[in-house]
Amino acid sequence: MATTVVVVFDFDRTIIDDDSDRWVVTEMGLSQLFNELRSTLPWTSLMDRMMKELHSLGISTKDIAECLKRARLHPSIIAAIKSAHSLGCDLRIISDANQFFIEAILEHHGVLGCFSQVITNPGFVDEESRLRIVPFHDSSSSPHGCHLCPSNMCKGSVVGQIRGSFPERKKRFIYIGDGSGDYCPTLKLEKSDFVMPRKNFPLWNRICSNQTAVSAVVHQWSSGEELESILMKLIKKISAEGSVSDSSSLNSSASLEKVQFCSQHALSHTLPLD
Ligand SMILES: [Mg+2]
Ligand SMILES: [Zn+2]
Repeated sequence: MATTVVVVFDFDRTIIDDDSDRWVVTEMGLSQLFNELRSTLPWTSLMDRMMKELHSLGISTKDIAECLKRARLHPSIIAAIKSAHSLGCDLRIISDANQFFIEAILEHHGVLGCFSQVITNPGFVDEESRLRIVPFHDSSSSPHGCHLCPSNMCKGSVVGQIRGSFPERKKRFIYIGDGSGDYCPTLKLEKSDFVMPRKNFPLWNRICSNQTAVSAVVHQWSSGEELESILMKLIKKISAEGSVSDSSSLNSSASLEKVQFCSQHALSHTLPLD
């Protein structure tokens, strides 16, 4: 049975170095209004309200897209995305940002076509030419019931749906993320999968606080260069292991690497993959 390598990326502070929502709010001078309303609205509704404000100020969706193009995306991360795609991996994004922001940034950097799916809060331009942002899950009509995740998106359930799709193909996941919203999907990974938490960010802290809860093999990263180098090594490692015919030897090597992560993360080391 052929193995599909599914590489799932978070977006904010993983693919881009900033948070795309906060980037637009700050660059567009909306920080004061944002902070005033922060405690009164769920995040997605708050961003929709910010887009309403921009529309009332005469700022077009084209202006918003231009602003997003200035968000930093590390060249090594662009290279990693292109390489993983060309190696035949199935690349997906699961993000609590929104479709308009993500697509504007990825298109600008020429990598939107590398992803088979961008799963996020829908963003669209309405009949008044205003950008609207709506929740991925409608919490009133279809609550996801996960206590780890915000009401608008459970990334873990999305990972489960991806795993369940194309059941005829064996899938091995590499999940790359930084935030607390990336913890639920991390718990859904299996021992033949990998998780790449950004070092010293919330996901990394949660994994470090209870390693036994995570079945997947952990590889931390700090810089774009590290992300690229580790991702390429993991893809090659999975390819070399083929269809995982000997699962017992895979499991023992996974356990070993986990122990190394526990003992080394305090020393600021990245795991050797060779
Ligand atoms: Mg993030
Ligand atoms: Zn969840």
